[in-house]
Amino acid sequence: MAIFTIAGEVMKSLFRKPATKMYPAVPRIWERATRGHIAIDISACIFCGICGKKCPTHAITVDRPGKVWEIERLQCIQCNCCTEVCPKKCLTMENAYTAPSTGSVKDSFHA
Ligand code: SF4
Ligand code: SF4
Repeated sequence: MAIFTIAGEVMKSLFRKPATKMYPAVPRIWERATRGHIAIDISACIFCGICGKKCPTHAITVDRPGKVWEIERLQCIQCNCCTEVCPKKCLTMENAYTAPSTGSVKDSFHA
């Protein structure tokens, strides 16, 4: 009987659309709740450094006198802690992942 089950599955597979996508030809559509990468509205940041202190992986560095906010993307584990503690609510979790890299992926934002 297993042969009929397998044959049935084969026949169904011939006529249904593939479960996989032709990435990257077909762009990936992220789910709304996907934790991808941290974004900052640097114009609202007061460089208090709370996000950097609360970050469990020390991915965020804040230079208050120089007014520079930096994040090491591949160090971030997308825990969302920084977005919750920011007093100015200028950090958000965007849903696209950071592109793969063999080296450091550091982003710097200046006021
Ligand atoms: S917690 Fe918010 S306001 Fe403070 S340094 Fe971080 S991003 Fe800027
Ligand atoms: S999401 Fe978590 S790990 Fe990533 S920068 Fe914010 S606090 Fe750090």
